[in-house]
Amino acid sequence: MELHALRAHQLRELLDKGEISSVELTKSLLARIEAVDPAIGAYLSVREKEALQEAEAADRRIREGRDVGPLTGIPVSVKDNISVDGSPTTCASKMLEHYISPYDATVVARLKAQGAPILGKLNLDEFAMGSSTETSALKLTRNPWDLERVPGGSSGGPAAAVAADTAVLALGSDTGGSIRQPAAFCGIVGLKPTYGRVSRYGLVAFASSLDQIGPMTKDVRDAALLLAAIAGHDPLDSTSIPGEVPDFAAELDKGVDGLVIGLPKEFFGEGIAPEVKDAVLAAVRVLEGLGAKVQEVSLPHARYALAAYHMIAPAEASSNLGRFDGVRFGHRAKEAEDVVTLFEKTRQEGFGLEVKRRIMLGTFALSAGYYDQYYLKALKVRTLIRQDFEKAFQQCDVLATPTAPTVAFRIGEKWENPLEMYQSDLLTAPANLAGIPAISIPCGLNGEGLPIGLQLLGPALGEGLLLRVAAAYEGATGGVESRPKPRLEVE
Ligand code: GLN
Repeated sequence: MELHALRAHQLRELLDKGEISSVELTKSLLARIEAVDPAIGAYLSVREKEALQEAEAADRRIREGRDVGPLTGIPVSVKDNISVDGSPTTCASKMLEHYISPYDATVVARLKAQGAPILGKLNLDEFAMGSSTETSALKLTRNPWDLERVPGGSSGGPAAAVAADTAVLALGSDTGGSIRQPAAFCGIVGLKPTYGRVSRYGLVAFASSLDQIGPMTKDVRDAALLLAAIAGHDPLDSTSIPGEVPDFAAELDKGVDGLVIGLPKEFFGEGIAPEVKDAVLAAVRVLEGLGAKVQEVSLPHARYALAAYHMIAPAEASSNLGRFDGVRFGHRAKEAEDVVTLFEKTRQEGFGLEVKRRIMLGTFALSAGYYDQYYLKALKVRTLIRQDFEKAFQQCDVLATPTAPTVAFRIGEKWENPLEMYQSDLLTAPANLAGIPAISIPCGLNGEGLPIGLQLLGPALGEGLLLRVAAAYEGATGGVESRPKPRLEVE
């Protein structure tokens, strides 16, 4: 098999035995990008020279047996809202099209310290606002399973790259579902960690109380390895959680015997495609067959999650995006006669339609007179949703739901109707509001051969538990080897 198609834990063995080098592996990925990415459009920039230098340094380290970690020599690709020193961080926006990051995000610094080359930057919805990667102002990304369909969003670039074998490992960000929904649409694994588990330092902020960076990988073991590499306290992020990071990989083989899996009835109701529901329930039966107990639970306030999310996220975004004024960052309008006109013209030219819509919604929700009625109300709903989850986790260990209501939709299908697009986050946004971890893993294909995702949700800091249940399912269904892969006509 080609090196670019292998998983990180397999590559680790080959690297340690000296059967392959990191430079060889990096070159294999670069060649794969050149062959396949023109049809997929996942990469916004490729760090060819830097990644090869980083790979050479990793090879020296491995040869000398010096401080070799699980990811030493294994390239990682990064969503383009995560800063990499000296490389562009565009957020797929005209506003930052020519912006170069002057420092590394903490997650990137940790990967570099372990000797993982950073391969390139991946497309997303503009400023991570969207569910299809169609709001990117810079590129269209296509779903490797069907090039006429979206890869999901906002981490559509990472999901498409991992599915198309142009990335071994990728980092995405998830504010309302942006790691899990594209993972489901592209048939890969995506994990949103507990809020505070992974540092947000160097992630361009969308909604600061919801944003988390997390792994997007080909299998569950790789997700555990990548999460372990990036997790842990960071003094540069005041919301980062202190304390030791558990050994996630050690959880993977523990099985599910005796665990209680809750099925929240509100997540299987209206708006969920029957084929998605059936695949998810079949996956739950597999876990039951492995000794898990299954029980129905209720999260009565979950139905308000999407409405609360679309108040809180835009409110925070309208504040966070205030910094893009043409003076400090990125694009600056020409020929503005005074400073107010400069701000206005810069923002008019630099931001796309969806970003402007969010800024207007958020500014409205925060304005005097509406603050109590909308924003404060949404915060109260958020508390109720968190309490619903706390109660559910008194009865069960994890919850199982579909990740997204449907499989990947067609390019352009929901573009005209933002409310329909927002429905994509129906089942993922609750975890962000509650701050709890959630993973999406592939659980089969529909009749048209498109991937379906199973979402597992756990209590705060329960990533180990999620990885354990996910690994049990993956193992029982034959693992990645037995899973179909997208057939790319360009090959
Ligand atoms: N799709 C959601 C939105 O449009 C979530 C985005 C995200 O998680 N970054 O806001």
